[in-house]
Amino acid sequence: MPFIVQCENPNCRKYNLVEDALCGQSVECLICKTAFRADNAIRACPQCAAKMRVPCSAAAQRVQCPKCGTVFQ
Ligand SMILES: [Zn+2]
Ligand SMILES: [Zn+2]
Repeated sequence: MPFIVQCENPNCRKYNLVEDALCGQSVECLICKTAFRADNAIRACPQCAAKMRVPCSAAAQRVQCPKCGTVFQ
């Protein structure tokens, strides 16, 4: 399942959707072309929209939102 990573360029910080095969690999931001390692996936809570980072190896697992406690996949 593809996951979302955040560009590590402080002037960009855009979200990129990458294939799960690229977990831990070097990826290139579609916007600014900065190369960075896809280590952390960004997950957004469907209830309160809080964003959290999880290791990309766990990107498809259920997580609990630290803000509202919603468990989602
Ligand atoms: Zn970027
Ligand atoms: Zn939440």
